[in-house]
Amino acid sequence: MPELPEVETTRRGIAPHVVGRRIAQLHVYDSRLRWPVPPDLGTMIAGRTIDGLTRRSKYLLFRIGAGTLLVHLGMTGSLRVFQRPPARRTHDHVDIVLDNGTLLRYHDPRRFGAMLWVAGSPADHPLLASLGPEPFDAAFDADHFWRATRARTAAIKLALMDNGLVVGVGNIYANEALFRAGIRPATAARRVSRPRLARLVDEVRAVLTEAIAKGGSTLRDYVDASGEPGYFQLDYYVYGREGEPCRVCGTAIRHRRLGARASFYCPACQR
Ligand SMILES: [Zn+2]
Repeated sequence: MPELPEVETTRRGIAPHVVGRRIAQLHVYDSRLRWPVPPDLGTMIAGRTIDGLTRRSKYLLFRIGAGTLLVHLGMTGSLRVFQRPPARRTHDHVDIVLDNGTLLRYHDPRRFGAMLWVAGSPADHPLLASLGPEPFDAAFDADHFWRATRARTAAIKLALMDNGLVVGVGNIYANEALFRAGIRPATAARRVSRPRLARLVDEVRAVLTEAIAKGGSTLRDYVDASGEPGYFQLDYYVYGREGEPCRVCGTAIRHRRLGARASFYCPACQR
């Protein structure tokens, strides 16, 4: 599943090729994504210019005049740019043709993604309105985290993955950030002290920054590449390493399920 670093890498990979270009045509081959692609989307965007491409949580926001094309990659979606478009393949559901012939193509085998038109401010859209701060925003700091967790008896890992508290920290990065901060995933959120939350905020940013930097080496995969853009892997400390020795202390990494998601931790390094 594309996580925040993959979505940010997609944004960086395609932005130079689409921002400032006018949309010539839209072709929707299959509108049955998580929500249907609006039937009038072509009328809304054809002839207009893509003024900017930003990201909010795992949504890509193409600013087009006063409106916004909101794209989510779902479980298996990808967006790529072609200067010489190859023939359409299975699961290529939407093509956006730009004025210079460049093609922006949406591919999604499982069709859990979304492509929606937002006429007003995207921040007020129901999908975005209740989202918490971005992990790199100043609003996500130890004070915010501390206040938001004082009444939470649920595990700190679940708080970290709650989009109302902070967006874009998926399962892999929650596991890794908690290891790096020395906090056990199952610890009740309200029992984690403010200094330890401050450390966790720093580690969330560090692990996401490293993943985005790693994605930088794959940017060319978003333009005229054959095959799908890959999901990049860090050398994880704990994620997927049950029974293997901790990279810091050698203790066997443990696994347990928390809220139906796999959690990995080192019983010696994390308290
Ligand atoms: Zn350890």
